[in-house]
Amino acid sequence: MQYQVSKEKSAEYLRLAINHMTQQDTAFHPVSYAVWYEYASGEHAKLMEEMDALIAKEKKLNEKNTARLFDKHIAKIDDAGAQAIIDRFGQVMTDINHSTSQAGKDTSHFQHALQTWSDEIKQFDQSSHHALQEILTHTMQMQGSIEHLQDKLVASTDEMTRLQNEISRARQEAISDGLTGLINRKGFDTALGQCLSAYQHTGAKLLKPACLLIADIDYFKKINDSYGHLFGDKVIKAVAQILQQANADQGTAARYGGEEFVLLLPDTPIETATKIAEDIRKKVEGISIKHNLAHTEVSHITISLGVTPYRIGESSEAFIARADQALYASKAKGRNQVTVYQEEMAA
Ligand code: GH3
Ligand code: MG
Ligand code: MG
Repeated sequence: MQYQVSKEKSAEYLRLAINHMTQQDTAFHPVSYAVWYEYASGEHAKLMEEMDALIAKEKKLNEKNTARLFDKHIAKIDDAGAQAIIDRFGQVMTDINHSTSQAGKDTSHFQHALQTWSDEIKQFDQSSHHALQEILTHTMQMQGSIEHLQDKLVASTDEMTRLQNEISRARQEAISDGLTGLINRKGFDTALGQCLSAYQHTGAKLLKPACLLIADIDYFKKINDSYGHLFGDKVIKAVAQILQQANADQGTAARYGGEEFVLLLPDTPIETATKIAEDIRKKVEGISIKHNLAHTEVSHITISLGVTPYRIGESSEAFIARADQALYASKAKGRNQVTVYQEEMAA
């Protein structure tokens, strides 16, 4: 989901959304706001249809239905888009908080001015004094209401900050690999998509292309069979650490599958990427891990790697496929080596 509406347009959706929200049984929170923002934008026909049907049947949207609509039509489609709406709602709440606080201060000044005026007028005009006292009482009531609203807003903002933190923690968890701490395939695919779209925008002006490196541990099944699965896990962790460290400055390393890793190197010429791949290969060759049960150090662990530069305009699938073909060539040539993709490898 991409939001490309102007600030004015989004402000109009915001007003409409808040107006709708006040008429429901749902509390004011980001999930409800996201649903009503989408409704107000009029761009989400299926969601609108379902909301209209629910309101026709039940008059108002309750918490359960709102959450279900959010999950079905917004969160599941694109969690980054959902996060963007939630963040924007946070901004709205902060703005309302500031405005209310300013209104509170203005009312307080007004109240003091009235009080002073009322005290001064008391000596020579009793009836005006009584009228002013009455206005003062109403002003104090107004001040009380604003304070009450402010308390509520502060509580809502705290709750929203908690929710935002929870969401970003859940999003982080969803893209990290539990064993190695690297990002997982899902996270990598997103990072790759973002990197490539940046290349597509800047296009031919870029002198250095992005390079992709794919690495796969050699004969890993044999390592598992000989030393056990837990030991195999230690090997995966050690290789991941080497990749993370080789991760140059702006690279993105990920565990792409069981014993397969990827490293995306933006703005890196193929010669540098090949050198990084060779450094990784050598470091893995140097791994030595203690096997607790056998009381021995296990070494001779090797990986094969494939490297390729990005071709402006190609899809991420085509980019990955070429790196994969280069990796396959490394395996076919006897493993423990780096291969740069060549045209004749094309399937
Ligand atoms: P090749 O040199 O051709 O890559 O051979 P290989 O044995 O490394 O490849 P193969 O695909 O035959 O075996 C990969 C093995 O990796 C099989 C699977 O059980 C193991 N594996 C996958 N994920 C994990 C994991 O998280 N931990 C452990 N210990 N093993 C895993
Ligand atoms: Mg392997
Ligand atoms: Mg493999």
